[in-house]
Amino acid sequence: MDVRLVQCSTAASPSRLPGLDWAVNPYRGCSHACAYCYAQDVTRFDARSPWGSIVEVRVNIVQRLRRELSRRCEGVYGVGTVTDPYQPLEARHKLTRGCLSILKRSEARTSILTKSNLVLRDIDILSEWPDVEVGLSVGTIDERASSVIEPGAPPPKLRFEALRKLADSGIDVYLMAAPIIPAISDDEPSLRRLVELADLSGVRRIMWDGWNPKPIAKKRLEASVVSSELMEPFDGTRRIHPGAASVLREECRIRGIDLIDAF
Ligand code: SF4
Repeated sequence: MDVRLVQCSTAASPSRLPGLDWAVNPYRGCSHACAYCYAQDVTRFDARSPWGSIVEVRVNIVQRLRRELSRRCEGVYGVGTVTDPYQPLEARHKLTRGCLSILKRSEARTSILTKSNLVLRDIDILSEWPDVEVGLSVGTIDERASSVIEPGAPPPKLRFEALRKLADSGIDVYLMAAPIIPAISDDEPSLRRLVELADLSGVRRIMWDGWNPKPIAKKRLEASVVSSELMEPFDGTRRIHPGAASVLREECRIRGIDLIDAF
């Protein structure tokens, strides 16, 4: 992997994502390398290189954020809105940890989204912080499929364990059930089991989203499934099963979990 240490001129940029006012992304590029990831379509970050092969580390983001928050901290800060704030490089650089310390000290409302159980390292910061929520993202509960389409991310079972530990520590958690992918994770048994595992992990709120086949991501997902012997061929033109939303809604209602459309 090509790791590039870069300086940023701004730590928090305005966010247009629902429920978020500011976006804080310590890394550009993501070594979790999910085949379905939209980030390359959205940011055009080195679209000629394999996704996950280049990561920029914004080494001065903590100092920048400290300065920016000394002037204002209204609104909700999303940490990891474009790429994962707990991808493996975070274990060494601790930039997400540094940003969270500052956000907590500034009493900024903060929302974190990740696919990694590395978030557990920061339980000391996350606990006793009333204005933080932590989302773990799981789009498929099939460990075999996950190893093909999310090759650099911790397996789903570690993400559910992380949710359990965070919830047990009194931290406000949610499951980001996304992306639900046609023919990979949109069948009824998988959707019901996804909600059941969230329930068993102490989750009381699920946000969900179907996969939107943007051009680069669609090509990448098709190629990764074709080159794997673990999965059936994948047809990127298929749409998510029309009954997926009602299955999720029903299973959440039975279990007393709030279901929210992410977008
Ligand atoms: S963890 Fe998120 S940002 Fe990273 S590759 Fe996967 S979908 Fe993209």
